[in-house]
Amino acid sequence: MKKTIQRPVVPPASVSTPVVSPIYPSVVYASDDPDGLDAQYEGGAAGYTYAREGHPNADLLARRIDALEGCSGGIVLGSGMAAVAAVLLGLCGAGDHVVGGNQLYGRSLRLMAEDLPRLGIATTLADPTDMAAVEAALRPETRLVLIEVVSNPTLRVADIEGIARLCRDRGVLLAVDNTFTTPLAVRPFALGADIVLHSVTKLLAGHSDVTLGWVAARDPDLAVRMRVFAVTTGMTPSPFDCWLAERGLATFALRFDAAQRNAAALADWLAGQAGVRRVLYPTRADHPDHNRAAALLGGQGCNMVSFEVAGGRKAANALARAADGVAFAPTLGDVGTTLSHAASSSHRALSPEARAAIGITEGFFRVSVGLEPLDALKTTFAAGLAAARDA
Ligand SMILES: *Cc1c(COP(=O)(O)O)cnc(C)c1O
Repeated sequence: MKKTIQRPVVPPASVSTPVVSPIYPSVVYASDDPDGLDAQYEGGAAGYTYAREGHPNADLLARRIDALEGCSGGIVLGSGMAAVAAVLLGLCGAGDHVVGGNQLYGRSLRLMAEDLPRLGIATTLADPTDMAAVEAALRPETRLVLIEVVSNPTLRVADIEGIARLCRDRGVLLAVDNTFTTPLAVRPFALGADIVLHSVTKLLAGHSDVTLGWVAARDPDLAVRMRVFAVTTGMTPSPFDCWLAERGLATFALRFDAAQRNAAALADWLAGQAGVRRVLYPTRADHPDHNRAAALLGGQGCNMVSFEVAGGRKAANALARAADGVAFAPTLGDVGTTLSHAASSSHRALSPEARAAIGITEGFFRVSVGLEPLDALKTTFAAGLAAARDA
């Protein structure tokens, strides 16, 4: 018996439309004829060809993040690091120089320290809270400056407006990783950034079940160059992940609002607990960048709180074990609170002296505050701190 496989697929007719995005796992799309395919590749006709080049779920998600950041033409990639790589490797070449914030995400620092120099791209790190330090790092061949608005894990606040002015005056591109702050607190394009990127994995998707990134550029030519580089190097996101992120994004504003209110309250509570040496939260009066945070974050805070417990690694071990209501896990932006310890994870590659220079001791923890009732968080951290004091 002759078997027929019905392809291409024609969806059943419907005069009504779905209210939730369909998932399109199809790798290939059938076109009418060679002229039609030509028109698609040349941009004369809209349509998909091959999923690595683009697919509907990536575009549906990208348009939603574009709307949050107040831009157009953003692209969704397979991870936040793919977005960082699309910026640095897609836009810079041998002979260029790149300046990065000195407290960037660990893998971004690694890309700058290990991979860019191997490809002939010189790099310098500078303190982004100090515009003069960034200015001093610029060279005639500087192509791009990459900063995060709020640094991990010490939560220092960059002088984004000053650096944007500097970059504009010197003809240097400013790229901002807005993962920590999110577009609800900061919209870097409005402050003068040329490129904005996210690890969608974190707060935007919000449930620790997808790994994705997003990047957009003010100049459409730069966006095209990053897109072509991403397609060529296979940074393609999975349609299923894009669909999940779109679903997560539906509650992003509610989640962010609740999480940052929790974080502000937890920071104040932690500051009053025995055994806590210091608490870092950008909008607290005792934070070194408090004034800038108040002006920049538009009345919002962030969902991250860092603190230092007395008693070194022994106390830190006891705290992580006893605070068993929260996951001891090096991520952020989940619906549940997560606790991370920079010295044993994100900053383990640094020497103890280098860590000390940026205030990261063995008792230093970063908390990504989630949506639990505040009382439950206090109970958990009270248990952790009591164990740390007894250690
Ligand atoms: C996690 C993170 C990244 C990398 O994102 P992935 O999705 O894990 O690849 C980049 N920048 C910041 C600020 C992050 O927190």
